[in-house]
Amino acid sequence: MIPQDYIQEVIRRTDITDLVGGYVNLKHRGRTHTGLCPFHNEKTPSFVVYPETQSFYCFGCGVGGDAITFVKRINNLDYVEAVRFLASRAGMPMPEEDDKAGRLRSRILSANKDAARFYYQQLNADTEEARLARRYWRGRGLSDDTIRRFGLGYAPDGFSTGYKFLRSKGYTDEELLEAGLIKRSQKGNLYDAFFHRVMTPIFDVKGSLIAFGGRVLDDSKPKYVNSPETLVYKKSRTMFALNLAKKSASKRYILCEGYMDVISMHQAGFDTAVCACGTALTPEQVKLLSEYAEEVVLCYDSDEAGQKATARSLELFASSPLRVRVLKIPGAKDPDEFIKKYGKERFAALFDKADNALEYKLAKIRDKYDIAQDSGRVQYIKEAIGLLAGPISETERDVYAGRLAEETDVRKESILNQLDGAIRQNRRRASAARSRELLQEGTAGQIHLPYGPDGAKTLGVANAEQQLVAALLKSPEFLPRVMQRIRPEQFLMEDMRQSYEAICRCAREGAAPSLSALAQELDDKLMSTLSQMLARNHDVSPSPADLEMYMDRMEQSVPKSSQAGKMSNDEIENYLTSILNKKQKKN
Ligand SMILES: [Zn+2]
Repeated sequence: MIPQDYIQEVIRRTDITDLVGGYVNLKHRGRTHTGLCPFHNEKTPSFVVYPETQSFYCFGCGVGGDAITFVKRINNLDYVEAVRFLASRAGMPMPEEDDKAGRLRSRILSANKDAARFYYQQLNADTEEARLARRYWRGRGLSDDTIRRFGLGYAPDGFSTGYKFLRSKGYTDEELLEAGLIKRSQKGNLYDAFFHRVMTPIFDVKGSLIAFGGRVLDDSKPKYVNSPETLVYKKSRTMFALNLAKKSASKRYILCEGYMDVISMHQAGFDTAVCACGTALTPEQVKLLSEYAEEVVLCYDSDEAGQKATARSLELFASSPLRVRVLKIPGAKDPDEFIKKYGKERFAALFDKADNALEYKLAKIRDKYDIAQDSGRVQYIKEAIGLLAGPISETERDVYAGRLAEETDVRKESILNQLDGAIRQNRRRASAARSRELLQEGTAGQIHLPYGPDGAKTLGVANAEQQLVAALLKSPEFLPRVMQRIRPEQFLMEDMRQSYEAICRCAREGAAPSLSALAQELDDKLMSTLSQMLARNHDVSPSPADLEMYMDRMEQSVPKSSQAGKMSNDEIENYLTSILNKKQKKN
């Protein structure tokens, strides 16, 4: 951890408007600044910077936070790197990195390395289970050379073989737990996080071994077990095999669905194959990829899940500078199968036939209709025009309008006319949406009722908790009074409880509880939520009476059973609905 007063100093010397202004063209509007959001693709600005709370919030995509959050996101850095970035921008030397965090980080990396060696040895051991594991990898068509190059291994059966091995190498329980290599059972026993699984080590872009993916050898469940997020592993920011792909001369990257596809591709000589860690591609991963690649070819499975993932990824790539194409894999369910069936030369030939994003979407629309029929043709044209009226270049529009005309045997002029109409309509809609947005933004600040709109008391408690936390961030001078009356356990909403605890801890350590003071403890999602609350309230200052109301409302709502602090959002909703129903019955 970096010392809190150092962070405060970095923040004090950073002006968020200046900082963001370096990336976004900001326009002054009252006490705020607005511009086009750098985190999502938009035509009308919904990204707002609030100098008073030194925060930003995007009403379009819901991303928000303080200066540190902004730097983290825009430059794809972790927290410490972001502080370092801002410190050097402000001309401050970095403090000695806290020994403890730094040491733990390097212990985790070294435990991972020892674990990988252990899994590799186990794979090559002279035992029946090792033979089965080797048979598994070979059954997937991998050569011994590929197994070695990717450091593939096997975590043996039993609950603590790996644990005992790693303890013998001198790692403490705490280090192994932090590395996610072991787990603690409810009874308190320690056991291996991975057993009886084939293991794939995951490296970051710099080549450090940061995590593992484990798969069962048969069809039992769960099929995959992966390392949890740790000090060294953030899955939303990790691309598998990017450390290898970045060494390739080619800037055309192949984005696959899973580790196995990637490994087979590399074995077949496609050395720019990568895949996202985690279940779905994230904006951070797209950003990371765009630092190395110029073109990305999406190469997902041909099943429905794969097609959904393709559509979703295309959306994410839309705002990146990368050229994106979609590979069609005829006659096979995935690239792995295609290469095994038809060979790598034919697979390489597919790349030249890969559709660009627009062609892919058009083909998807065409597949839905029977264009031999008049009605099917009309539907196809209608939907295709909707697509071509979107954010694409004039040249592209002209080319595809021509193609559409040919396909449907409709005159190109008539297609272009309809296109013009659709584009005009889009513009009108966008400007109407923007007006609505401004209206909401304007009124949102006024909604300051502790009980929410329409007397919806179910919303009331949640709203009171949010308002209380927002008020404390804006006017920390109220904190001592609130702390006397409200304990963290009294919060129903888990994320507000967490925020309140962080605020209290900050105050106890003598720091002003600002958004930035909390950034080190709270995750990005919660930072966005808090900035949203600040954004909504940016032109109102809470009065002492407001705070009393929030606290009253919270105290009325505390359930007697008081498991509240641990309730999930769904449970809270159920609970609140149930008390509301009871009250209604009484009336
Ligand atoms: Zn946005």
